Amino acid sequence: MQAIIPENITTDTISLPELAAKDVQIDILRLDKIHPVISGNKWFKLRYYLEDAIKLGKKHILTFGGAWSNHIVATAAACKYHRLNCTGIIRGEEPARYSATLREAVSYGMQFHFSSRPDYADKKIPDALNAADTYIIPEGGYGTLGAQGASAILQYCEQSSYTHICCAVGTGTMAAGLIRAANAGQRVIAFSVLKNNYQLTDAIHSLINVEKEFTLIHDYHFGGYAKYTPALISFINQFYRQTTIPLDFVYTGKLLYGIISCVKNEVLPPGARILAIHSGGLQGNTSMPKGTLIF
Ligand SMILES: *Cc1c(COP(=O)(O)O)cnc(C)c1O
Repeated sequence: MQAIIPENITTDTISLPELAAKDVQIDILRLDKIHPVISGNKWFKLRYYLEDAIKLGKKHILTFGGAWSNHIVATAAACKYHRLNCTGIIRGEEPARYSATLREAVSYGMQFHFSSRPDYADKKIPDALNAADTYIIPEGGYGTLGAQGASAILQYCEQSSYTHICCAVGTGTMAAGLIRAANAGQRVIAFSVLKNNYQLTDAIHSLINVEKEFTLIHDYHFGGYAKYTPALISFINQFYRQTTIPLDFVYTGKLLYGIISCVKNEVLPPGARILAIHSGGLQGNTSMPKGTLIF
């Protein structure tokens, strides 16, 4: 297994004409460089769950996700790293051919239980898997321990240089961690990749346990979770040509599209110093037809 190397994280300043026009700086925190498959933010979010499991003497990790889930493959890799057994409860019937994500998870030793959509929605766990030595990590790593792990992300940059910290949001766990770690006067702007998921505000508040403001933006989902449009794809390709930074189409592509739009319309104010979290997810690009992206 390829090593997981947090020291590989860099902060890359990007240079684009539309940013210079507004005297805005965007630095990208490259959590994607930790490992080619394990999404950067997932590594951070899993940390305290796994420590908790080990402390409690659990031998078997169980979690939930879809066939292209970054969380599933990251959990599989992290369990291999910690020598824990693991099972993924996967949404939907067992496919004739596994996705690249599931194949990768199998290569790390994960076992699967395929769950019908209604059972998956209820997060049903078969009795055989629900033993005393099993530790359950919630879907997507959502929870206080996940947020606690994500709050360490900002230790990998010169945090005080930024006025705004921007991230993509699925469950809101990473955003909650960043909000907890943000300095007074530093604003977290979180871009939801789900369509009209207005319960996110409460979901995030319940993980930050202090009164802190943040901004949640719902305008850049491109049709919904894992949906995309030609405009998004051409943006990701153009961004790669201009910066040589690869983005994924589920999270970070929508994030950067959103940030740059908000610079143009001054929702992000002229003069802003923005840290954008590249939370990884590049493995998910293999779900698109070959040739869609230029990298
Ligand atoms: C899971 C994931 C997110 C979303 O993180 P949440 O904590 O669920 O909001 C963002 N970016 C990438 C690349 C991810 O894999």
